[in-house]
Amino acid sequence: MLNISIWMSFSHTESWGCTMFLEGVIINISMLITGFYFISKLSKFPLDANISPLRQILIGLCNGLLCFILMKFSIPTFSHTLIDFRHIPLIIAACYIGAIPTMITAIMIAITRLTFDISPATITISTCYIFIGIILSIYSQHSQRSMRYRAIQFSTITIVMICVSYLLITKDLIRTLIFTGLITSYSTVGLLLAFMLLKDLKKQKTDMMAFQDQAQQDFLTRLLNKRMFEQTLRDMLNAEENIVLMLMDIDYFKQVNDKHGHDAGDTVLKEVAEILNTYTEYQQKNYRIGGEEFSAVFTDSPVLSVIRIAEKIRQQIASHPFILPDGKVIHITISIGLSCSKNVAKNSISLFRRADRALYQAKSDGRNKVIYATDDA
Ligand code: GH3
Ligand code: MG
Ligand code: MG
Repeated sequence: MLNISIWMSFSHTESWGCTMFLEGVIINISMLITGFYFISKLSKFPLDANISPLRQILIGLCNGLLCFILMKFSIPTFSHTLIDFRHIPLIIAACYIGAIPTMITAIMIAITRLTFDISPATITISTCYIFIGIILSIYSQHSQRSMRYRAIQFSTITIVMICVSYLLITKDLIRTLIFTGLITSYSTVGLLLAFMLLKDLKKQKTDMMAFQDQAQQDFLTRLLNKRMFEQTLRDMLNAEENIVLMLMDIDYFKQVNDKHGHDAGDTVLKEVAEILNTYTEYQQKNYRIGGEEFSAVFTDSPVLSVIRIAEKIRQQIASHPFILPDGKVIHITISIGLSCSKNVAKNSISLFRRADRALYQAKSDGRNKVIYATDDA
């Protein structure tokens, strides 16, 4: 008896009808969609090459499991040939992620297929899937083309290899041609549905990440916003971390707006934020907490080092040529107040109040100054 099964394994039932075929198709599509829905839940990030290797392994294993389930529900077609969607998760892994999950999926298909029965036909099929895995893995690493191009390229490679294996096993050209038509149309339906679902899920995740960023970021400077500042300060103090808080306020900023316009003021604010972002010597987070007011929070950093950083920031801003949209160059200065949570009542209000008082002191001492709050208020 003939035993062919990539797509297929041996049918034990001689009779198959249209209803059975349709039932099988619906079951397969439902399993494919449900499987991809759960696999996409394995990462909170969109499925792509940036997912961590560990998660890629997990996705590969789940993908392989999905292929096994799909294999179990193969649909009887003609001449004892069964057909299923097992190659679709393989193509999807290569299109979306890369070599790791693709190769794991291919190996799992090959191994699980051999657990059904071991014969020359099943060995050919398993070998075919290993080769498909290797080829798709290589292409997925090097192909920079669009998702549509990759989908067409990878599914063509897969279907051609599956059909060649079918021909090798059956040695029947007519059956192979019928099978090629069947698997091509069946795969097209499966791939279209899978891509539709994954595209939607990916868009949902990227939209959600963008909304989260917007809720945490200041729109103009892309620094973290005041809400994040208050939350971080509270969380860090609750976690008993030692914090040095730096409050910064641009001197006479109103005059920049009045003399050069609001757009020029915005340009200056963005550039100040960029300068702050170059200071990452300690675990430092920068925030825009008001119009021309910025803050940096340092965890577990020696006060003296933070005072030195504040002095460097002050000097750099004072010497930096700010180029305005109309090409004019201006210079500005900044005043800085610092406070430390060590040895004082650890609450965010007192820490902030002391840094603010130091900042006020810097302003009244003539601006362009760094003042550290030494009092225990
Ligand atoms: P001081 O040295 O005492 O801090 O003086 P100042 O002029 O910097 O302080 P003041 O609080 O009087 O002015 C702050 C100005 O910042 C007023 C407001 O027009 C400007 N400002 C606030 N937010 C923005 C913004 O998003 N863009 C621009 N361009 N200006 C802003
Ligand atoms: Mg101010
Ligand atoms: Mg100011």
